[in-house]
This record gives sequence, structure tokens and C-alpha cells, in this order.
Amino acid sequence: MFVPALANPLSLPQARPALPAWDRLLSGPSAGPGAAAGAPDSGAAARAESLELGALGGPEADLERMDRAFMELALEEARAAAKEDEVPVGAVVVSAGKLLSRAHNRTRNAAHPLAHAEMQALAQAFHSSGQARLVGATVYTTLEPCFMCAGALSHARVARVVWAVRDPKFGALASLGAVLSDPRLNHRAELKEGVCASEARDLLQSFFRSKRA
Ligand SMILES: [Zn+2]
Repeated sequence: MFVPALANPLSLPQARPALPAWDRLLSGPSAGPGAAAGAPDSGAAARAESLELGALGGPEADLERMDRAFMELALEEARAAAKEDEVPVGAVVVSAGKLLSRAHNRTRNAAHPLAHAEMQALAQAFHSSGQARLVGATVYTTLEPCFMCAGALSHARVARVVWAVRDPKFGALASLGAVLSDPRLNHRAELKEGVCASEARDLLQSFFRSKRA
């Protein structure tokens, strides 16, 4: 028997009335008090500041430049997701300054709720490195990881996680949980948020705006 509801599993925005609220929440400041260590990006001012830092040189400026460069790759992935009508989230895995993997959210087209950008980037990184642990690696993601991805990042033993904007609905590293900084857990990672925040937020907002139109 033909069941229209099953034949239409991709009607995600209609099926999730909470999405506009998510969009609205994302429009606020990306990093509040108690944020993870690091400088929130407030757009042009922050970019100018980072350029000044770069002019000054030093390890901090190098890290800032590297973080922005890899987050730009994650943003490219997020844009690719949007083109595929997926919620625009991208992630990359970097080890010793080298790109191990890059991926974007594919939950709808893969019809798989676990196909988050971070999960796929991690899986590719395990494959390409031949390692079951990504010790020393940094994961860049355009949206704060959810609980599933935060668990995976913990299992992978990544050293550092950098994200652009918080996810007030499901974020597990700062918004609703502290999966990689809880002293009761056996693995913790260095956290940084707010890198390329305005770009990531714009992508999410325009995606959800287009769904409401
Ligand atoms: Zn996730």
C-alpha cells in the first residue's frame, strides 16, 4: 500500500517546525560569557584584528591564520551542503597542519540521521590515516557539534575542536553540554569558537529563510 508520508521523507523543514526558532537563536551573538577559550569573530572588526595580529607575527597569529584558513575549507563544505539542499554544515580534520579529510552534512540525501559533517569527516580521516585514534588532530566545523558528534570526537581522541557558531538546540560542547571539557570524562580537548562565525551564521540563516519562503 502506498504511504504518502513515507514517500516524502525529505520534507524536513515542514516536518520540523522548530527550525525557524533555531534560525532565530543563531542570529544572536555566537559566543556568550563562559565561552570556550578563543576569540569570537564579530565580522570585519575581528578580521581586521586578525590581520593586525598577523602583521605582528608570532605563534598566536600563525594559529589564528591557520584556524581561519581551515575554517574557510569547512565553509566551502557547508556551501556544498546548501547546494544539495542539506542543512549547511561542513567539517574538516587536520593533523600536523595537513588536511586529512573534509565533508559536509548529508543527512537528507543519504537518508541517514548520523551523516553529520563531523561524523563523515572523522570516518574519512580514520580511513585516510589508517589510525583509529586521531591524537593531536584538530577538527574544524561550522556549527557546534551535537552530542553524537561530540561523543565521536571524544572516542577519536582529537586534541582540538574549533567551531564557528553555537547550536543552541543541540550543541554539546558549550550550549547544552560540555562533552569535551567535563573533568568526569576521560578525554578532554582544547576548544575554540567564533572562527568565521558571521559567514557560517549567514549560510544557516539564508538556508532556513529559503525554507520558510
Ligand atoms: Zn552532529
